[in-house]
Amino acid sequence: MREPAVRKTLYWCDACNLPLLGRKCACGTEGRAIPLLRPYDARPALQADREIITGLLRRHFGTGDLPAVVILNKTGGRDRNDLIIANGERFGWLSFDPGSKRYSLELAFGAVSCLLHAATKGVIGLSDVPDAYRDVAQGRRIGGKRYPVPGHLPEGPVLIQWEGHAAVGTCREGFLKVKEAGKYSPSHRPDPDWDRVISANISTLKNLERSAIRFIRHEAAGASCVTVSFSGGKDSTVAMELARRAGYTDAFFVNTGMEFPETLGFVKSLGIPHILHAGDFWREIEKAGPPHKDDRWCCERQKLSPVKEWMKGKGECITIQGNRWYESFARSGLAPVARNPFYRLQVNISPIRNWRALEVFLYSWWRKLPQNPLYALGFERVGCWMCPAMLESEWELVRRIHPDLHRTWMDFLMEWGRKAGIDRGAILAGAWRWKKTPPKMHG
Ligand code: SF4
Ligand SMILES: [Zn+2]
Repeated sequence: MREPAVRKTLYWCDACNLPLLGRKCACGTEGRAIPLLRPYDARPALQADREIITGLLRRHFGTGDLPAVVILNKTGGRDRNDLIIANGERFGWLSFDPGSKRYSLELAFGAVSCLLHAATKGVIGLSDVPDAYRDVAQGRRIGGKRYPVPGHLPEGPVLIQWEGHAAVGTCREGFLKVKEAGKYSPSHRPDPDWDRVISANISTLKNLERSAIRFIRHEAAGASCVTVSFSGGKDSTVAMELARRAGYTDAFFVNTGMEFPETLGFVKSLGIPHILHAGDFWREIEKAGPPHKDDRWCCERQKLSPVKEWMKGKGECITIQGNRWYESFARSGLAPVARNPFYRLQVNISPIRNWRALEVFLYSWWRKLPQNPLYALGFERVGCWMCPAMLESEWELVRRIHPDLHRTWMDFLMEWGRKAGIDRGAILAGAWRWKKTPPKMHG
């Protein structure tokens, strides 16, 4: 049977003002499709995400008003770059600059309905921008145009307001770049919480669970070795729950030697039956240099080898894993069942391959599953604390939460960079993550 394609849209119930996993809401309303951006992995904005966004809103607009349900859609960029969706509309983009280590916000027109009524600053009148005023008076569009502005206007994202209309844009160095403009009239929308989102989507969640359990039972039927590969992350926590409901409780976790203390504590709290230990990661790093995004030699040495060693003598082993299509471009072609090319006796099955992070979180909340505390702290993914796949924004979080670990790795990188002739500034901006620095990092 052909797998359904990756979904590129998110459906939204305008009556309940909440996201839908399927096309139809429990209230009976057909959802409206909102286009997502690649890799289309919509996820809820968690507390730490909301704090960053509301902090920026307060700074620029004097209000931190956001609906309870906000969706993020990570997308390409120099570092963290999330499309923010609120009230079923594009609210804007949250980006992290790896050079300055600061977040910034760019608004989309959907932010107007959230902000305009509550903003105490950051709102400018059209008459403040004479050239834009003239364009509007002459019936010309202003969206997408750049206008000179007087020096007293605020720098950064702004709202522009005039008779029944509004626009969003950014003021920088004496110019206003208008992004989008349109008609605007205040409207009241419901402000549901995440529990409401779960009940509006309950039949889809039940279907997802049912078909994942059926898939696991079908693939594992008759096998003598069936285990869950538990990474400490949200996806494998869900995979483990689905396996348990399918009747399989064996699980292993590989301690690479560079695990976050939070992850080790979480693994311990769950009583994972098998903790496998990799060889000395530091010794490997001293020999091979740091792993890179484009050369993750550590995956094989620190993750796959201990599993292979542990599975030896068990015959063919079915491994239930939490890998998903939406995690990255590389995983978008993930097959439901695949033999491990490094160890042919291991057969990986992926019951949540077609779930987005939104499904994963809603399912976890519905089933009240425990969660690695790193998510609440602001990490989007969980792995080694110095993983090159981490974003620079997450590395900045490591600096705040575990300054000792951060210092250890930076000291190592500086010494390694000194020997390899790599510029200190480039290391500080995160260039060490790539063996061959991509063009986006040169900007
Ligand atoms: S999580 Fe990152 S650092 Fe750890 S083994 Fe995997 S690729 Fe390497
Ligand atoms: Zn509804």
